[in-house]
Amino acid sequence: MIHGSCLCGQVKYRIDGQLSDARFCHCSMCRKAHGSAFRARATVKSADFAFVAGEQLVTFYESSPGNHRGFCSVCGSPIVSKFEAHPDYYGLPLGALDDDPGIRPTSHVHVASKASWFTITDDLKQLPEGPE
Ligand SMILES: [Zn+2]
Ligand SMILES: [Zn+2]
Repeated sequence: MIHGSCLCGQVKYRIDGQLSDARFCHCSMCRKAHGSAFRARATVKSADFAFVAGEQLVTFYESSPGNHRGFCSVCGSPIVSKFEAHPDYYGLPLGALDDDPGIRPTSHVHVASKASWFTITDDLKQLPEGPE
C-alpha cells in the first residue's frame, strides 16, 4: 500500500497497486501548477486509488480540455489529475506521497518548454514534447 497526503494533512489517499510511467514534465502548465521547475508524476489506475480523508476538500481545475487537476482547497497541494478521455487512470504528483512508490522517473518530457533557469543534469531521456 502506498499512502499520500497534502501539506495541511486534511486530504489523505492510499494506492493499492503499482504505479507506472513515472516522469518529469517541464510543460508551462505543470510548472505553474507546482510552482517549480517541473512536475514529478506517475500514472495510477483509478481502481487502485482511494481517498482516506478529505475528498470533499479536493477542487478540480480544468487546465486544458478534459484534463482536470485536483488540489487541496485548503493548502493548495496537487493531489490527483483526472482525464475525461481516460477515466481508467489518473495522473499522480509524486511529491505528495508519504511512502516510496517503488518506481523512479525515467524521462523528462516537454523539455522544449523547460524553464530557462533550470538545467537538467541527469542522464534520463529528454523528449521535446509529450511522451510518445
Ligand atoms: Zn491540504
Ligand atoms: Zn506538464
